[in-house]
Amino acid sequence: MIDLSSDTATRPTSAMRGFMAEAAVGDDQRGEDPTVNALQEEAAHLLGKPAALFLPSATMANQIALKVHTQPGDEILCHESAHIRLYEGGGPAVLSGCLLYPLPGERGVFTADAVRAALRPDDPHFARTRLVCVENTHNAAGGCIWRPEETEAVAQAARELGLALHLDGSRLLNAAVAKNTPPAALAAAFDTVTLCLSKGLGAPVGALLAGDTDTIRAARRWKHVFGGAMRQAGIIAAGGLYALRHHRDRLHEDHENAALLAEGLAAIPGVRLNPPPETNLVFFDVAGTGLSGAEARMRLEAAGVRASGTGETRLRMVTHLDVSRADIERAVEVAGKALTLGPSPAAGEGSLSRERPRLRTRTTRTCRGANQILTTLPVSDW
Ligand SMILES: *Cc1c(COP(=O)(O)O)cnc(C)c1O
Repeated sequence: MIDLSSDTATRPTSAMRGFMAEAAVGDDQRGEDPTVNALQEEAAHLLGKPAALFLPSATMANQIALKVHTQPGDEILCHESAHIRLYEGGGPAVLSGCLLYPLPGERGVFTADAVRAALRPDDPHFARTRLVCVENTHNAAGGCIWRPEETEAVAQAARELGLALHLDGSRLLNAAVAKNTPPAALAAAFDTVTLCLSKGLGAPVGALLAGDTDTIRAARRWKHVFGGAMRQAGIIAAGGLYALRHHRDRLHEDHENAALLAEGLAAIPGVRLNPPPETNLVFFDVAGTGLSGAEARMRLEAAGVRASGTGETRLRMVTHLDVSRADIERAVEVAGKALTLGPSPAAGEGSLSRERPRLRTRTTRTCRGANQILTTLPVSDW
């Protein structure tokens, strides 16, 4: 199976496993794990912040960031398809008691004017607007990159309005590599930054939250409260450390593979890129093929290529450490066949024409539940 469903499908390499096995460890709840401490220092340096905190997941990093910046009843501004809004289990409501104000915008990018317009008056009738959350790269919009001037305008508005700024930079290194920009420059405007280690970087577990020393001290308390404080966590932190040292510069290969994949998919009749990829996430719409998204996924999977679905007819394929250029060439070839309905009735003989009704019936029966979910909200295994 060529697994393009997510860059979370990456498995630790044998070199990474070796480094993990050898890692020096201590009790991280007492701040005594040297490998965790080294990872936190390297990540803080990479992101240009005074401190960083190792956490089990980017979801926890985001949720702790929201927690440290807000009080219950506050409102958080984010893009309408932000990960914190769609894919974190309602965490902002559960853990921080906050409202999310969804902002529209192309490519996952919203404007300074949208931020200003969303600000609530200082009046007891209203929630208190407190935090702006930016996602770079923006997952659901297509792995899109915020341009520096877009970030700067939003950050300036936030500062003028006295709002805190959080960056969900789960895939920030993809943006940094694609734009040949230091990650610290992309993070500079933000009070806190999330970085995920278990996506394209290829570590099995973990994420970081970076920020100033006081904020990270407060975050450490919430890590404990949320049950994320670990003991000899150096074993897993070593995977992250190895990833930051050895898997960062190769992300451009994933982007080149994504471009190749996109070109191949776009050449299939009825397939439309939505949008064209900027990094390692390739979203495409199969409406023009006559297949539903669920049917398309099932056909691809039956032929050995796994994609994820994010809407009725929208699919996602993600390139990563565990897929080679040859895998991508193969995936394009497979998709070309799988996403093309059987031959026209004039040519309709042989196995393909018999296969088609059978596949369609099976699809309708087994996928109805998933289909219903897929039509209402973008859903995927992120
Ligand atoms: C994957 C992802 C997360 C959550 O990461 P986990 O490690 O799965 O918790 C948060 N934000 C974005 C943008 C993501 O893509």
